[in-house]
Amino acid sequence: MGSSSEVVHGYPHLDTVRASITALYRRLSHHTVRTFETSVLPVEVAFSDQEELYAGVQRVAGAMVRQLRLPDARMVVSFREMRHAANVELEAGPEYFIELNARFKNHRRDIGAALAHEVTHVYLHRLDLGFPAVRDNEILTDTATTYLGAGWLLLDAFREDALTSQKLGYLTPEEFGYVLAKRALLFGEDPAIWFTSPQAYTAYTEGMALARRDGRQPPLAAAGWAGRRRYARDRRAALLGGSPAAGAGYAFEQGPDGPGEQLRVIFPCPTCHQRIRLPVRGRLRARCGLCDTLLECDT
Ligand SMILES: [Zn+2]
Ligand SMILES: [Zn+2]
Repeated sequence: MGSSSEVVHGYPHLDTVRASITALYRRLSHHTVRTFETSVLPVEVAFSDQEELYAGVQRVAGAMVRQLRLPDARMVVSFREMRHAANVELEAGPEYFIELNARFKNHRRDIGAALAHEVTHVYLHRLDLGFPAVRDNEILTDTATTYLGAGWLLLDAFREDALTSQKLGYLTPEEFGYVLAKRALLFGEDPAIWFTSPQAYTAYTEGMALARRDGRQPPLAAAGWAGRRRYARDRRAALLGGSPAAGAGYAFEQGPDGPGEQLRVIFPCPTCHQRIRLPVRGRLRARCGLCDTLLECDT
């Protein structure tokens, strides 16, 4: 896992983050995703300077192993001077060797965050779920950690003051906030009460605004007036063979019977971002086949 003091903001990895959520639903099914309704709680990862170091590290690693349902996996954690924040050897198991940067010996509050990311690597490795490019795979790992209830720790590890800044993981703070917000909307959870970092809270608020916007894009019935107007115009143009501007968030497709008939709209599911295809015919209700979300639409 990487750590940095040059903090990038915004949503440079948004496409990969969304693809990660889709991949997670495809591999796990919505039934399994919904069993992750409880997050790791602050009390499980609290780590005081009075606790014996190695016993404490094993205890926190145990909390991550339970969170990710890896009952037979044993995490063997050690410390080493290194450039990265943490690292894990992805072998056959059941023992996995995790190295933490030696600086965590004196910064125990973020050990939970570092272990959350590394144990998620083990979880995804066992599921055989990965993206081919190394960086994309790290984004998948951060996204999975967060969506499955351990990643609020990674966002909370983001701290800035006048002189220093610290961040763990590969997502920007706003991207962590976005995934955390998507989780919060799915489970009706409020992770904001767990933050100790004011910067984490701000990033979460921003991410939540974007997550809510996902649910208000046409042809979803909750779309705002301006979006609906643009959609109606694009739909008229589509009947004449035109296509919406790039970045519209939806596309039209002619049915098999040729122009003018059976026009269909294609758009991403606001929950899992799988592409949904619906006939263009006004108000209708559909259920996403991947994440099971009920979608009120006006196509
Ligand atoms: Zn990693
Ligand atoms: Zn869906």
